[in-house]
Amino acid sequence: MGAVSLPPPEIRENVPLAPLTTLGIGGPARFFVEALEERAVAGALVFAEERQAPVFVLGGGSNILVADEGFPGLVIRMAMAGITESADPRSPDLARWTAGAGEGWDDLVRRAVQCGLAGIECLSGIPGTVGGTPIQNVGAYGQQVAGVITAVRVWDREARCALELDNTGCRFSYRQSVFNTTARDRHVVLSVSYALTRGGAPALEYADLRKFFAGCDHAPGLPEVRAAVLAIRARKGMVIEPGDPDCRSAGSFFKNPVVSGSDCEAMAQATGGPVPSYPVAGDSRRVKVPAAWLIEQAGFRKGYSRGPAAISGKHALALINRGGASAADVIALMREIQAGVRDRFGVDLLPEPQFIGFQQRPAADSADSTD
Ligand SMILES: Cc1cc2nc3c(=O)[nH]c(=O)nc-3n(C[C@H](O)[C@H](O)[C@H](O)COP(=O)(O)OP(=O)(O)OC[C@H]3O[C@@H](n4cnc5c(N)ncnc54)[C@H](O)[C@@H]3O)c2cc1C
Repeated sequence: MGAVSLPPPEIRENVPLAPLTTLGIGGPARFFVEALEERAVAGALVFAEERQAPVFVLGGGSNILVADEGFPGLVIRMAMAGITESADPRSPDLARWTAGAGEGWDDLVRRAVQCGLAGIECLSGIPGTVGGTPIQNVGAYGQQVAGVITAVRVWDREARCALELDNTGCRFSYRQSVFNTTARDRHVVLSVSYALTRGGAPALEYADLRKFFAGCDHAPGLPEVRAAVLAIRARKGMVIEPGDPDCRSAGSFFKNPVVSGSDCEAMAQATGGPVPSYPVAGDSRRVKVPAAWLIEQAGFRKGYSRGPAAISGKHALALINRGGASAADVIALMREIQAGVRDRFGVDLLPEPQFIGFQQRPAADSADSTD
């Protein structure tokens, strides 16, 4: 798409955002539009520009906390659907799929598994949309979406045109991409293209998954691995089960901090035992320490509550809305946990979700810490 002549987008006013998020928290959007096609995105951006209104691009609302006051500008909810396959005679082993940004991510994974396509089976059960996944390069159980993305089609808000970034151009790393670092808010993801492996074996790298299949008398196939991932996630409240307050969350609320070897030794001395840690790709001097472990060691148990905001009873890393929680309740709990971990270990926990509509950012973000 080049220069555009635009139809007026269907803009609504004062639309409640809480029901469009997995935390179920937050006030209304001053303006709101559902984008069913690329032209609607371009038109909505012109509408916002004319009013000098800030813009927020909403996917499935599974990685955000919306302020109680709501968002004072235009929210564009990405609803572009459709999955297409293109032939590639040069690589018959690969299925090349392109999905609209508004497609449900887990619907795409289910379809890929049903078609016998490997590459995203371990990413089963992650809520949200296709368009949300490249933003923080979602990952779980040994796979990252960056491993199969070939291209991301975007609307470039600076150049005012649609263009395609290849995998290298997305600069993916652990929970990071160009979309949430150097070019934050510049691109609206319109569709994502993947190369999936026909008849490929499922990835079984992650310890939890290996344990699940220990004693299994055959090599599990893609559907079994998908079922196992969903079962493991459900035990941790990491799939959306309607009616279960333990999954009324934004997933992991804190990133796993990256610390030096000496910091890690200090932690071991403070706790009198070994500190769980994982290597950081490309950085032999530092390690990643699970934020959930730090939180529990700082005295915050699963189920710990502060009024209607609480730590999930199933996973110390998820902050939940037990019912009727406000954004202020969640922020207060977040700050209490951050202060507790800082006091005990001298480590700053950085939040993973995006904060939307807050006059002041509740916590600084950093390109340095990863989940
Ligand atoms: C129960 C639960 C479990 C989770 N488990 C995991 C996990 O295992 N691994 C993991 O990595 N994450 C996990 N998450 C976090 C979340 O699901 C992912 O980050 C997801 O990809 C967010 O997608 P979304 O469509 O909901 O984005 P939203 O929450 O709507 O938005 C998140 C950010 O992405 C931006 N964005 C969304 N769509 C677009 C678009 N089309 N163009 C431009 N920007 C866009 C938004 O502006 C915002 O900055 C979990 C969340 C929950 C609630």
